[in-house]
Amino acid sequence: MNTATFIEASSPHVMNTYGRLPIALSHGQGCRVWDVNGKSYLDALGGIAVNTLGHNHPRLVPALQDQIAKMIHCCNYYHIPNQELLARKLVELSGMTNVFFCSTGLEANEAALKLARKFGHDKGIDRPEIVVYEKAFHGRSIATLSATGNPKIQAGFGPLVEGFIRVPLNSIESLKAATQGNPNVVAVFLEAIQGEGGINPMHMDYLKAVRQLCDERDWLLMIDEVQCGMGRTGKWFAHQWAGIKADVMPLAKGLGSGVPIGAVVAGPRAAQIFQPGNHGSTFGGNPLAMRAGVETIRIMEEDGLLDNAARVGKHLADALAEALRSELNTHAVKEIRGMGLMLGIELSKPCTALVGQCADNGLLISVTADNVIRLVPPLIMSAAEADEVVSILCPLIKQLLLGAA
Ligand SMILES: *Cc1c(COP(=O)(O)O)cnc(C)c1O
Repeated sequence: MNTATFIEASSPHVMNTYGRLPIALSHGQGCRVWDVNGKSYLDALGGIAVNTLGHNHPRLVPALQDQIAKMIHCCNYYHIPNQELLARKLVELSGMTNVFFCSTGLEANEAALKLARKFGHDKGIDRPEIVVYEKAFHGRSIATLSATGNPKIQAGFGPLVEGFIRVPLNSIESLKAATQGNPNVVAVFLEAIQGEGGINPMHMDYLKAVRQLCDERDWLLMIDEVQCGMGRTGKWFAHQWAGIKADVMPLAKGLGSGVPIGAVVAGPRAAQIFQPGNHGSTFGGNPLAMRAGVETIRIMEEDGLLDNAARVGKHLADALAEALRSELNTHAVKEIRGMGLMLGIELSKPCTALVGQCADNGLLISVTADNVIRLVPPLIMSAAEADEVVSILCPLIKQLLLGAA
């Protein structure tokens, strides 16, 4: 290391909202990133499922440069041609009908919650209630943290927003019991695969049963695909594996490959609820974000990245299972789960220490729910890079499991 260029990673004036690693990243190429001191890392986190096309993509970067030179922002008092283009594309991929654009995941979820409440008010329900899930994560605004199922995220921010009914995952009986005889229910709000909660998939049969129940009772099915959507599981949206459609689908994270963007896609039952004056966003749908969304989807289609996510994801899951076979047998590793390039490895004990140990060894990962290693790399990851993830990660897992509890 050249000491002349050594830069300390510390941010004393930035608000202390994250437990940060002592690393400052400088640039990247594909699935690899470098810190300010020149050390390289394989990126199996992708900026938390955001960097769909990895770093410095040879077709995304010139498109964004072109857009920045033309126009970054102009506001929604005018038509923005790439909004219509991206909306049409999302409608085509989802089989839904209309899109509202914003800039983040929590904003997309706020819009979904407002849609559900107005859906209720429009049919005479004054105090609409929305079903949400244990271990859910929907964001950190007051409404979305109220919908979130993690008490740690809510602590200190009460009073919470009312009007939520919480149920366990994958139990249609619990959902029926919790809503029995309640005329105020307007929507069921779920992640097809919970991300922050520990990579917890909803079962296909459960999703189908919830869809049917929503149809029978005139509830909106709102599927938060902020993390599991945009091709990560090998289909455009994770719930499509169950062969169902959502009424409302919030998106964000991977949609712009790193440029802040959020969207709420609505089907016929929810598409006409908002009228002028009901909702808005200054940055939402701006020309730079829209160009990022349009180009991300174009490149994903041209390069077959859904297939790559499915294929490399399976390769990675199989290789992890092989490398951790004896730990799986002894239940020291409880489960490897997820789909495509959204994988969780649940250990029998807390493993947040692995995040720093992996970084020391040149691999970026995260740990959620205390004991679940989360792998959500760029969708361009190759099988060779997946093998490299396994070769760095698995010895560290074994070492951690052997250590004192
Ligand atoms: C990350 C995430 C959010 C919040 O997105 P932000 O852009 O951080 O506001 C909401 N829902 C899910 C499922 C997420 O993974």
